[in-house]
Amino acid sequence: MKYIIALIPSPLKKVYANHKKRQYAKSIIGKNVYCPICKSEFKSFADYGIQIRDNALCHKCNSVERHRLLYLFLESKFNFFKSDSEQHILHFAPERFFYNIFKDIDNVKYFPCDLYPELYTYDEDVKVKKADLTKIPFKDSTFDFIICNHVLEHVTNDKLAMNELYRVMKRGGAGIFQVPIDYSREKTYEDFTISTPEGRLKAFGQHDHVRWYGQDYKSRLEQAGFNVIENDFVNSFTPADQYKYGLMNSELIYYCEKTYN
Ligand SMILES: [Zn+2]
Repeated sequence: MKYIIALIPSPLKKVYANHKKRQYAKSIIGKNVYCPICKSEFKSFADYGIQIRDNALCHKCNSVERHRLLYLFLESKFNFFKSDSEQHILHFAPERFFYNIFKDIDNVKYFPCDLYPELYTYDEDVKVKKADLTKIPFKDSTFDFIICNHVLEHVTNDKLAMNELYRVMKRGGAGIFQVPIDYSREKTYEDFTISTPEGRLKAFGQHDHVRWYGQDYKSRLEQAGFNVIENDFVNSFTPADQYKYGLMNSELIYYCEKTYN
């Protein structure tokens, strides 16, 4: 087949590609689902994932279930921290859609960070800063809110990372630290002798993950000092709305507070 395609003159290839594009655009037209992030409606979200999940990926903004859940949570509970008082927000592995929101809020001092800031091509005034989660380059008690989603499962010394998140959070502050969790496991599974991408994919579900968190994820965060609330926000939506927004009804939000005590 590829030999035949190679023989097709390029103007024809372009016509064919445009035809496929139009076909695809037509196939997703509908009003069954709604992405709250990019405010778009579709027939359904696209299938996505190493283990394919249906109704997962937004055709326009590339958000998946967990992004839309967090968006709805931050919007409905905090109005994205828009207020009269200054809010310092630290964001590890900053997703584009949240970056775009926080960088423009007047009262928010926004600090997007990553171990590999060069991977981010956000061409804006607010630069993504280099930061190691196990050695966060900020003073104690700096941040009112911290977002660190799907990062800890990549970090070998996650205990140290959790301690660091606690250290830089203000008393009275909070954060959301989502990770993939296998709730069938009572205890987190990690084995640092497994270090190849193939081995990690097989053992931990992704080539660059170093563990599978289990039911003890909450207590691991508590050991760092956090008051942890496993928030079942997703089930405040009806099953019909969970489908409409493309949410996973098993996903708890790990809301972690640094209390005054
Ligand atoms: Zn979207």
